[in-house]
Amino acid sequence: MPALKLLKLPPPVAESWSWQMDSACRDVDGTVFFHPDNERGEARESRMAEAKRICSGCEVRAQCLDYALESGERYGIWGGMTEDERRAARRRRNPVR
Ligand code: SF4
Repeated sequence: MPALKLLKLPPPVAESWSWQMDSACRDVDGTVFFHPDNERGEARESRMAEAKRICSGCEVRAQCLDYALESGERYGIWGGMTEDERRAARRRRNPVR
């Protein structure tokens, strides 16, 4: 029987998420970053602006955005970007998809 070859072990869970300990949103209500059902118009724009304001002062913004782009997070504001903005950024990073 051929031996299994592991290409790379995943990092310990705590290590891969430790950047979140320094996030500016750590103690913020998560509803600021994720839209409720049927949210539209000014309420949506206002919530997203508040989330982006928080992200703009976050010292782990780059790690957060990298995580969201690499993992394909589909919902919410991550790294200061909306779902649509991340989708466009992923297309720019990998235009073949
Ligand atoms: S960039 Fe925004 S969503 Fe990401 S950890 Fe910082 S405050 Fe939270």
